[in-house]
Amino acid sequence: MRLILLGAPGAGKGTQAKKLSKKYGIPKISTGDILREAMQKGTALGLKAKSYMDSGQLVPDDVVIGIVEEKLKDKDCVKGWVLDGFPRTLQQAQALDRILTGIRTSIGHVLNFEVDEEKIIKRISGRRSCESCQSAYHIYFNLPKKDGVCDSCGGRLIQRNDDKEETVRERLKVYQEKTQPLVNYYSERSLLKKIEADDDIENVFTRICSFVL
Ligand code: AMP
Repeated sequence: MRLILLGAPGAGKGTQAKKLSKKYGIPKISTGDILREAMQKGTALGLKAKSYMDSGQLVPDDVVIGIVEEKLKDKDCVKGWVLDGFPRTLQQAQALDRILTGIRTSIGHVLNFEVDEEKIIKRISGRRSCESCQSAYHIYFNLPKKDGVCDSCGGRLIQRNDDKEETVRERLKVYQEKTQPLVNYYSERSLLKKIEADDDIENVFTRICSFVL
């Protein structure tokens, strides 16, 4: 199972990637999570990424391509993987093709999460995440058991800088310009499957599982 989750920020890719990873026992490679973790640890990568992320811009291609290449070459990835938030530009998609050819594998499916933009704004600005373990919650759709506290590790729930409404609007603009062209790139190769993602988490997951099996 080798999957790419494509779609606007806030379309629910991260949540579904986590569920797929658990159900099928494959690693989830989420560039956003990796970059946020680096930022939290204050590594050189994190410091480089911070200003781009906080303003809703994309981190430079060479940086994210290097991260993904290293992960895909890991032995955990032999049985499959789910890519969440990568590729996001044509250059990244082409680099991914080269990396996969180099390790003699290929993309299984590209799932394109389709959602309405106004719903995305409501969805993202309601998002909260654990500052320790990054688990995701939502003030309307996925409440923690105890207000402001992570169910998994007891960490504090916070709103990411890039989930604030004006940054979300910028991220959607960047998505339209840079990432939307990938829909054609993959549909021309008959890899694309549309996923109606304006629905609750379990319904979307059931839909995805019926496609990828
Ligand atoms: P996400 O959680 O996937 O929405 O990513 C959050 C932020 O991380 C994005 O707004 C970008 O600044 C950065 N980022 C994540 N993945 C990529 C990528 N593939 N290319 C460039 N920047 C990325």
